[in-house]
Amino acid sequence: MKIKKNDTIVVIAGKDRGKKGKVRRAIPKGERVVVEGLNMIKRHSRARRAARQAGIVELEAPLHVSNVMFMCEKCKKPARVGVKALEDGRKVRYCRACQEVID
Ligand SMILES: [Zn+2]
Repeated sequence: MKIKKNDTIVVIAGKDRGKKGKVRRAIPKGERVVVEGLNMIKRHSRARRAARQAGIVELEAPLHVSNVMFMCEKCKKPARVGVKALEDGRKVRYCRACQEVID
């Protein structure tokens, strides 16, 4: 999975299409990401031994990575992400639009 925590993404499908957000959590096993303030769902929860607040709680549901696109901070465009090896053997991600190394 090419998207990681703290990346900025834009949603390309679903009800939040076109919105941008920062990845709060990446779930490589499920190929999903949780994005701040996007794909909000309402959960009706009951208080369990004062551990959690009762009532309607809004929280972020994971989005599938195929429904989001990486936003490059250098060229400010949604871009595909490539992976290349540096001379010292380290693998880095890069923006396929402007070739800038991401991390
Ligand atoms: Zn770029």
